[in-house]
Amino acid sequence: MTHRLHRQTSLRRTTQVAASGLLTASWFMLQSLVALPPAIAQAERDEQQLSYGEFLQRVDAGEVERVDIDPNRGVADVVLKGDAEDAEPREVILFSGDGRNPELIQRLRSQNVDVEVRPEGEGNAIAWIATNTLLVMVLVFGLLMILRRSASGAGGAMNFGRSRARFQMEAKTGVQFDDVAGIEEAKEELQEVVSFLKNPEKFTAVGARIPRGVLLVGPPGTGKTLLAKAIAGEAGVPFFSISGSEFVEMFVGVGASRVRDLFKKAKENAPCIVFIDEIDAVGRQRGTGIGGGNDEREQTLNQLLTEMDGFEGNSGIIVIAATNRVDVLDSALLRPGRFDRQVTVDLPTYRGRLDILKVHARNKKMDEAVSLEAIARRTPGFSGAELANLLNEAAILTARRRKDSITMEDVEDAIDRITIGLSLTPLLDSNRKRMTAYHEVGHALLTTLLENSDELNKVTIIPRSGGVEGFTQSLPNEDVIDSGLYTRNWLFDRITVALGGLAAEAEIFGDLEVTTGAGSDIKQVTNLARQMVTLYGMSDLGPVALESMGGEVFLGRNLMPRSEYSEAMASKIDQQVRAIANHAYTRARQILRENRPLIDHLVDRLLEVETMEGNEFRQIVSQYTHIPDKKLTQPIAAS
Ligand code: ADP
Ligand code: ZN
Ligand code: MG
Repeated sequence: MTHRLHRQTSLRRTTQVAASGLLTASWFMLQSLVALPPAIAQAERDEQQLSYGEFLQRVDAGEVERVDIDPNRGVADVVLKGDAEDAEPREVILFSGDGRNPELIQRLRSQNVDVEVRPEGEGNAIAWIATNTLLVMVLVFGLLMILRRSASGAGGAMNFGRSRARFQMEAKTGVQFDDVAGIEEAKEELQEVVSFLKNPEKFTAVGARIPRGVLLVGPPGTGKTLLAKAIAGEAGVPFFSISGSEFVEMFVGVGASRVRDLFKKAKENAPCIVFIDEIDAVGRQRGTGIGGGNDEREQTLNQLLTEMDGFEGNSGIIVIAATNRVDVLDSALLRPGRFDRQVTVDLPTYRGRLDILKVHARNKKMDEAVSLEAIARRTPGFSGAELANLLNEAAILTARRRKDSITMEDVEDAIDRITIGLSLTPLLDSNRKRMTAYHEVGHALLTTLLENSDELNKVTIIPRSGGVEGFTQSLPNEDVIDSGLYTRNWLFDRITVALGGLAAEAEIFGDLEVTTGAGSDIKQVTNLARQMVTLYGMSDLGPVALESMGGEVFLGRNLMPRSEYSEAMASKIDQQVRAIANHAYTRARQILRENRPLIDHLVDRLLEVETMEGNEFRQIVSQYTHIPDKKLTQPIAAS
């Protein structure tokens, strides 16, 4: 089960219509750009126009002084006798080809009109050409810029990766182990690396070979980079870093030469740490991969392996690499003498989150009443980076609210902002708002009445960015979360709660009036039910794992679920999933049906206040019906 399960929020979303393509938009822009000059010219002259017929009449009447024909635009500028000297000439739209119409010219001549015919490609046509040329130039320039950027990204086509080294060196990282919290085991393992760097003699004296490479494995934001910096900081050695994705460049050979440069510099500065972020970008299994083998990547990888093998007995360089996809790494990288140590950096548990919060609260002004314990409880599944970001968002909110210390309210709001989206102004549309209120009350009431579900924290119908029209939030039990074990009862109640929104809509407004707002609920239900059947043996199909769990999702093995069953089994699984969902739905509708007056009361109140805390909600519920004690979902005993 993934950590995502912890984020227990039922959302109601509007269906989103995909925005029309950017391409179309820019195409229209281009078109109008080209078309603009003539159109403007047209508009300016509108008032001074003369019809062709009138023009001929005036010619015949001998009232025309001068005619200036522009065959490119198909118009003639006409000056009448008696027109003021500085008056705008009148414009006559000629019929096609009339510019060189000998008949017209003869007629003009015979009336002694001063005629001038502009040569082709003059006047407005020049403006046209100028516009188009400009456009082409802009495009070419843009293209050049793009080309230049990628070329310089590759270290410049001329000086292959030499001059502008794309690795960074920090003489002092300034990061200490104290700054890294919540990943104690990883820290302990890496403490050893610090000792290697500080006094290698101690180890070499007894004949120990100092490890060359350490691989940090874990999901994004758990502090891998921070940890590597802390090692350098603690040992007081320089820190060289480069990202694997920067190796994968346009020109073959650049990546390899960059590796060479990096290690050359590192050797000059030993002892030191070389940190390679996202090593999976270069270190994938060779000869495989989508789009066939990648020469460039292979060369880079080979160079990296060569460099690592080339370390003398104790060169004082320790290579630390980070990845969240250890499963795709080339096995050559994991051989002894290369990255032979693997340290897992996992998402923090409750304790870890608390410690990380303490680290990041150090430089923030927190209100006395803020409880970091409460925040840690509210944030299961958050990574270290997300926790740091949370406190920062809270500080921003505090500053915007012109307060001088961060309160619990600011933190709560920041949590919702991060997990659900920016809050928007409440809806005015009363029908839609009512529907949303019933939907959310459906979730919230089931959360309250089902004994295996978690405690209701709040329910709101204030919309959020991303099409969220309202949400119901429950507070998960921390023991259960940290153990990562869920009971069948808990899962089933969770599914029932998730269907509560749809069930309420159907109960109140009828089966045909249900909205698409329950889309994400249903997706969640299907996922949960499917996991119950195929992973946890919680269905009539019995205790068989029908899909390989394949480790954590972040390791990427679950990308393409391997099905190890027949077609017949597949349809049985579908049946079971449907049975679970239908059963939960029937149950949800029945509970809601039995509590109709209560629901109406709750909806009225919710429409009025828009956000209801769990306590107030429970207080209203208790006026109508008995609220069962929550069964503290005990983790399944055997591990
Ligand atoms: P990763 O490299 O694993 O993706 P980072 O080390 O880049 O994660 O983490 C980004 C930021 O998040 C850090 O600079 C730090 O502020 C914060 N952070 C992440 N994990 C921790 C942690 N365990 N303790 C303290 N801060 C952390
Ligand atoms: Zn919902
Ligand atoms: Mg990182």
